[in-house]
Amino acid sequence: MHVHIFTLFPAMFQGPFHQSVIRRAVDRGLARIRIHDIREYAHDSHRTTDDYQYGGGPGMLMNPEPVFESVEAALSPYPEELRREIPVILLSPQGRPFRQNIAGELADSPGMALICGHYEGVDERIKEHLATDEISIGDYVLTGGELASMVLVDAVVRLIPGVVGSEEGVQGDSITSGLLQHPIYTRPPVYRDMEVPPTLLSGNHGEIAQWRRRQTLLKTLNRRPDLLKSAELTADDLKFLETHGYAGD
Ligand code: SAM
Repeated sequence: MHVHIFTLFPAMFQGPFHQSVIRRAVDRGLARIRIHDIREYAHDSHRTTDDYQYGGGPGMLMNPEPVFESVEAALSPYPEELRREIPVILLSPQGRPFRQNIAGELADSPGMALICGHYEGVDERIKEHLATDEISIGDYVLTGGELASMVLVDAVVRLIPGVVGSEEGVQGDSITSGLLQHPIYTRPPVYRDMEVPPTLLSGNHGEIAQWRRRQTLLKTLNRRPDLLKSAELTADDLKFLETHGYAGD
């Protein structure tokens, strides 16, 4: 997957993309990440990339020219057919909420171009005529789209086959599975009087599976009952949930 990020603050990406899973994905050639400095496409010697709003208003707005031109320069080497499959995403609090299913769809695409807004945001023509999608990472306002694009890249890249060691682990993650994951433990079995549940140490795979499923159901019921409405639940699951107060609506 080819990831292109357009930003006024390229140095912000140095740490997060050089560690852990993203770094491994890049080292293995499963993801290629290019950070483009929008300022390089400024039209004047002061490298200006923002200006006051027409009609008045607080803060500065990112000009359209450097953003259009940096995105076009990065995507123009791709053959037309491929380019059409690369979404141009503006990170924005006005965008559609980012969800695991969107991460899954993006992981299937050959690439993505991410535009990071800053200051008061970007000129509306970028939204209307350059971006093919607008994505928000949550109902709060960040200073810039840089952190939002890092969140998006992380969630997408870990879904590319071969990036995370265990495919089973990815599928069993909270939200991805449709529910919240059961509690998980590692050594030691007892730490400061805090014990690992005995079932997990029993070696009985049937009992362990049942314990995990029930803990998953309980945790989801207590923390995110909304997820149960669209989850795939067996008759046993429903019976268990009902004994814990789930009314099914
Ligand atoms: N004035 C803008 C508005 O009301 O929509 C908000 C501008 S915000 C301070 C600056 C930039 O941060 C945005 O252009 C966007 O790129 C990014 N940003 C802020 N909150 C975000 C969010 N929740 N999700 C994605 N990007 C966000």
